[in-house]
Amino acid sequence: MKLFHHTIASSMKVFPRIGLEVHIELKTKTKMFCSCPVGEWDEPNKAVCPVCLGHPGTLPVPNRKAVVFAAALGKALGGEVVRLSQFYRKNYFYPDLPKGYQITQYSLPIVRNAWIKGIRIERINLEEETAKSLHLEDGSVLLDFNRAGIPLLEIVSSPDIASPEQAKEYLVSLQSAVRFLGISDADMEKGHLRVDVNVSVSFDEGEFGTKVEIKNLNSFKAVSDAIKYEIERQKDILLSGERVVQETRMWNGKETEPMRTKETESDYRYFPEPDIPPLFVGDDLLQEAESMLVDMPWDKEEEYINSGVPEHLAKIIAYDRELSEVFDRVYKEEPSMIAEYLVNVISGRLNQAGKSLKEFDIYGFSRMVNLVKKGEILNEYLKLAVQKHVFENVPFDTLIKEAPKPISIDLESLVEELIRKFPEQVRKYKKGQKGVVGFFVGQIMKDFRGKVDPKEVNRVVVEKLENS
Ligand SMILES: [Zn+2]
Repeated sequence: MKLFHHTIASSMKVFPRIGLEVHIELKTKTKMFCSCPVGEWDEPNKAVCPVCLGHPGTLPVPNRKAVVFAAALGKALGGEVVRLSQFYRKNYFYPDLPKGYQITQYSLPIVRNAWIKGIRIERINLEEETAKSLHLEDGSVLLDFNRAGIPLLEIVSSPDIASPEQAKEYLVSLQSAVRFLGISDADMEKGHLRVDVNVSVSFDEGEFGTKVEIKNLNSFKAVSDAIKYEIERQKDILLSGERVVQETRMWNGKETEPMRTKETESDYRYFPEPDIPPLFVGDDLLQEAESMLVDMPWDKEEEYINSGVPEHLAKIIAYDRELSEVFDRVYKEEPSMIAEYLVNVISGRLNQAGKSLKEFDIYGFSRMVNLVKKGEILNEYLKLAVQKHVFENVPFDTLIKEAPKPISIDLESLVEELIRKFPEQVRKYKKGQKGVVGFFVGQIMKDFRGKVDPKEVNRVVVEKLENS
């Protein structure tokens, strides 16, 4: 009987609820509460001062630019910028935090109620980065305070995410949003963007299961794999009649394993930071944030699709800041052809040549595309032209002059003549041998290669065969 019950249960659908907590380092010139520079350093502990080393008696002063950046992200994601927010002390003891507390936000975050693609973002907290710790084999820990005090945004979503794929989509969107705004490089490999996920599953769509948190995921793959693993693990626990334990786990590349019991909020003993007055966002600051706003990648994606760019190309271009900037300059006239070339030809050739998109004359290319569309230059020549421009630095003006002009041939009568000449092939076609088209196209191309467009020849051959 138990076995029977189990069989039914295994086929039951589970409803995962996933929430993401993302930390993003801001690309300000100086740190959150002191004037130490933010940047990459060859040596540890170069950009430090008494404030970011947590010496007693020092006074933190909030970085205005970091506040502007936070507000800009909030605005870009349709959120509410809270005019009067508050910094709090989050108390915990760890070597990377010499003060014994982190300055963060709590009940009054700088941004509330934002969203990305239908996923709600409950809050965006402005806080400070901790030092970087290096654990040695003998058990000792080395600390680098260059990172300590870099402005950090903590972006907390509601548990609205239903699958690993959706989680990835959310993260990619958030990553490109901060890159488009220019407030962070959000490079996961460099630790600019880190993710904690919480996962719960339930057999009842309307109910929440017990939440398990997985800390410090540092690649999209790790996020997706850890979520997949955790959904299955929790489903198995529920099916065996056990209860999921609320805990914090970590991802080791293959499975999640318990890390430590999660601190409850009372363990952190949050209280308002007495050294910093409430943070007031005035009109001038808000205007500065608004002046930073640009179209978000998902808006661009929609705009491209509406103008005729195939969906998969629209996505690739829209979410890449550099590609979309170049594309925006020229795409209006021939959206799908330019998109196709940009993604499938130009990017690849530049890569091979070790060049950047900035070195490519997109205007010259677009002039050439127009001539192709008008029938003044052969489509086939375009790829070769890109090649010469990228590898041999030939300007498009020269390439346009050198382009072989299509000769005017009466394609229709040529094809008709061939059809009369090869009645046997036509019979084969009528019997369903569609490969015959290739035979006729080949006959034409033999004499006119480089002078006629093979696609056009193909079209005429099919048309004439169908009507013969
Ligand atoms: Zn400092």
